[in-house]
Amino acid sequence: MNFDVLIHGASEVVTCTGTSGPAEERLAIQRGASIGINGDRIAWIGVDAKATGTLELDALGGFVGPGFVDCHTHVVFAGDRSTEFEQRTQGKTYLEIAAAGGGIARTVIATRAATEDELIALARPRLERLLRHGVTTVEIKSGYGLSAESELRMLSVIDRLAHETPMTVIPTLLALHSIPVEFKEKRGEWLRIVNEELLPRVAADKLARFADVFVEQTAFTHDEARVCMEAARKVGLSIRMHVDQLTANGGAQLAASLGSVTADHLEQISADGIAALAKAGTIAVLAPTSTLFAKARPFAPGRALCDAGVRVAICTNCNPGSSHSENVFLALGLACVENGLTPAEAYLGFTRYAADAVLEPERGRLAVGSPADLVIYDCPSYRDLPYHFAMNDVAHVLRAGRPVF
Ligand SMILES: [Zn+2]
Repeated sequence: MNFDVLIHGASEVVTCTGTSGPAEERLAIQRGASIGINGDRIAWIGVDAKATGTLELDALGGFVGPGFVDCHTHVVFAGDRSTEFEQRTQGKTYLEIAAAGGGIARTVIATRAATEDELIALARPRLERLLRHGVTTVEIKSGYGLSAESELRMLSVIDRLAHETPMTVIPTLLALHSIPVEFKEKRGEWLRIVNEELLPRVAADKLARFADVFVEQTAFTHDEARVCMEAARKVGLSIRMHVDQLTANGGAQLAASLGSVTADHLEQISADGIAALAKAGTIAVLAPTSTLFAKARPFAPGRALCDAGVRVAICTNCNPGSSHSENVFLALGLACVENGLTPAEAYLGFTRYAADAVLEPERGRLAVGSPADLVIYDCPSYRDLPYHFAMNDVAHVLRAGRPVF
């Protein structure tokens, strides 16, 4: 048996392919297994001392798992919000800063002023850092343009990044991130532009997979979100939603009722909201680094979501305002310490359920025929990732069968 690439010497291969039982069983670990790759796909997982590879990689006793899927990021932006970080250290809240003209509006000004090339040059090192943390699939949102023209420009930047980065990029239109300053007194006009002009154009030109909305007292109401999400579905886009982050607003129930693929954030979700997500099969996406960074406690009730049978995904939510970090391992550690997940649940949350959250069900798991996106670690167990708190034990990253780090 000779493969294009053979990975051997692993303590264990964490396949994430189990279909039932507790999280530890769903990890479906194969101890001492090797992996054969042909082309961009996994061809074999098993134990056979006679297997060879044209390229052989020795895991040196580390474990091997699927490439991470960062299912919620805002890595395309210009400018920085370090002054707001400083204001929060002095006691100002995220909502107070936004109400005083800071927040997303500040990033919009800087992003509109940047050229496409400048935005790409700024995003490139952020993607590089995610890749070094083992991320092989990344969702990227627009939402810092907030005019039809500049939202399309952001999607164009995301598309150009998709062609140059060795990662799979999933684009999301987040035109309803915040009300553009020009439309403060005429919200309906911006909503009309989004629903009647932007969404059909984005769907027709296949510029995004998802449409997204920020449901919050400083952003959009339930009614506004409902109309936009229904318009998005009508033109063939999938939907996902930022809900219940800073104030409890019943957003999870709204997301569940609209058929949203995900409900993201959820720090303020109620018991009814948890039940609604469970019933609808909506994936909960938790962003614990932003709860920490924005000082927007409590942390989302990950334990209760898992216990209710909701699939829970974890993301970095990398963005300039509320989570300025590409550190996947900090997110995994916080998911355990603060959201109450077990290491196995957190690991599934950044692999299998994160892949489900971006509608890439072949990724985030290791199976024969799946894309050969995988990570070789310096440590022997997935348990070491949250335990070696916020530290990076990635040794090698392969995407589509090719070593990329
Ligand atoms: Zn977000």
